[in-house]
Amino acid sequence: MQKAMYLSRYMKITGGYDIESHQRTFALDEGGSDTGIDFMIAPFDCVVKRIWEDDANEVWFESKEKVKYADGTEDYMVIMLVHDNDVSDLWIGKEFKQGDKIYDEGTKGNADGNHVHIECGVGQFYGDGWYHNWYTPSSMTINNAKRIEECLWIDDSYVIINDGGLNWRNVKDDHQYDELIQQLQQRVNELKEIKKGLEEEYEESKKEYEALKEELANMEPLPEVPLEDRGKIKFRIFLNEGESSEEEKLS
Ligand SMILES: [Zn+2]
Repeated sequence: MQKAMYLSRYMKITGGYDIESHQRTFALDEGGSDTGIDFMIAPFDCVVKRIWEDDANEVWFESKEKVKYADGTEDYMVIMLVHDNDVSDLWIGKEFKQGDKIYDEGTKGNADGNHVHIECGVGQFYGDGWYHNWYTPSSMTINNAKRIEECLWIDDSYVIINDGGLNWRNVKDDHQYDELIQQLQQRVNELKEIKKGLEEEYEESKKEYEALKEELANMEPLPEVPLEDRGKIKFRIFLNEGESSEEEKLS
């Protein structure tokens, strides 16, 4: 399974989450190595699903298979890239291999300086690929948006100019058994909870037992039955509430 890789070999985050035009989104702006026009690479084998030239040349790319996210999720992923000045080299159904050049920085859609606006969504492409988030009447967000550092990996070949203060995961830190260890840890925690519950129940029972023992100790002693009458008295005890015990004498 392919790991979804970050889009620019030079990471320079120039716009973070939830600020200015990114309100109510998990969008990042990638500024590339310098103020010129850098290109983005395919994070995984992917196919173009939608091109929206009327606004800022938004393009949606969907992974061809499920991919491994930086947080361990395994699912399809859609990325939306924005601001390329010219997308005439793209068409719906065009396929790319991981690492291929897929998109350029630009300023289409009144962007401040060359950059690419990036959003990642979980699962396969559907609908128009985005929806109104109602921050402004025109503001749109990719479907099933997810924080980008939880989606995309980096490796040692990336040049980090500005990481946006985010915790990016390096593929070399992905250990094969992390997931298994996490599952086992979770099971251990569940068992600890069960043990705690049983201990509480045990304490309760012990208290009930002590209370019954005390009640028994404080009970009036039973009247002595004369030796000759022993074996002649039978009790019928009704345990249902409201019914009193009945005594029946055999003569
Ligand atoms: Zn942006």
